[in-house]
Amino acid sequence: MIKRLSKWLSCDIGVDLGTANTLVYVENRGIVVNEPSVVAVNLKTDRVVAVGAQAKQMLGRTPSHIKAVRPLVDGVISDYEITEEMMRYLLSKALSGKKTIFGPRVLVGVPSGITNVEIRAVRDATRSAGAREVHIVEEPMATAIGIRLPVKDPVGNMVIDLGGGTSDIAVISLGGVVQSKNLRVAGDQLNQDIINYVRSEFKILIGEKTAESVKIAIGSLIPAEEPLEAVIKGRDLVTGLPREVIITDADIREAIAQSIDSIIESTKEVVEITPPEILSDIMQRGIYLSGGGALIKGLPEILQEHIMIPVQVADDPLSAVVRGTGIILENLEKYREVLIENEDELPSKK
Ligand code: ADP
Ligand code: MG
Repeated sequence: MIKRLSKWLSCDIGVDLGTANTLVYVENRGIVVNEPSVVAVNLKTDRVVAVGAQAKQMLGRTPSHIKAVRPLVDGVISDYEITEEMMRYLLSKALSGKKTIFGPRVLVGVPSGITNVEIRAVRDATRSAGAREVHIVEEPMATAIGIRLPVKDPVGNMVIDLGGGTSDIAVISLGGVVQSKNLRVAGDQLNQDIINYVRSEFKILIGEKTAESVKIAIGSLIPAEEPLEAVIKGRDLVTGLPREVIITDADIREAIAQSIDSIIESTKEVVEITPPEILSDIMQRGIYLSGGGALIKGLPEILQEHIMIPVQVADDPLSAVVRGTGIILENLEKYREVLIENEDELPSKK
């Protein structure tokens, strides 16, 4: 009865605080926010002026007193006020229209590489933003739960979450992460690789948005039957004037080859130190890819060729983490052991 009453008076919210995109799940309603993780701050007043899509529009276009930042990438998540403002915005958007007498219970998924100080900032800021109860889960775990892998069973599961700022490679069994590796090579790095390549090959300067859109439009790790082409516009480095060139899938492949290699190498390293019983489970069950980076064409095939383990992309890879937070919230007692309840006790975080 009390449980039912407090359920009625409160509400469960799951937040995927990604380096590129932030998603919010609300119980009974599903995913209600899906926006870029960008915050615009007025440096004169120190106030947040926009969050999400509206702030992303401002990236690279702000007057000198407004700064648009990606809090997780720029490492300012320890900037308590920005985090709190962002949380306040997300919670109010998530709760719009719903009356809660107690604040909501919030589960936040954080990239596995972030520091203790950052986790504490997220926890405190979420509470200050009005949460009654705050729980934290590392993203590879949330992803695995989101794609409904049996993380609590005595079987090995392997996931690779390829986000914007970081790639998380994790082996999970019995409710815990058995082996993992977090690298700062992911979607953003691929964009940067394309910018660098275009600068050195074509002597043109392009912006990050242009690089990302050609990556998504024609990027493929295996040659297409018909070569793919895209027109890109940038500034000629010699004349300083605008110029267009045609770029192909082969160019993109060459541009991002080194970064893709480092993702393959890191995956190999994790596989090499995974205990044999768990590895044999993974060979049978395969590796699951999630996050936006999983959508690069040909990635499962290339990984499979190098690692000799079947690889598949999870359904709706961009929302796996936030779906995982929803499943955890619905079964909080069952999943309590997968949460980071006290960051100081985490040996890997010291
Ligand atoms: P995060 O969890 O760090 O917020 P996401 O999982 O939201 O990151 O993934 C964002 C990244 O995925 C970006 O770098 C974006 O360019 C990339 N991405 C999204 N869709 C595609 C696609 N179709 N092909 C290649 N990369 C993609
Ligand atoms: Mg993510």
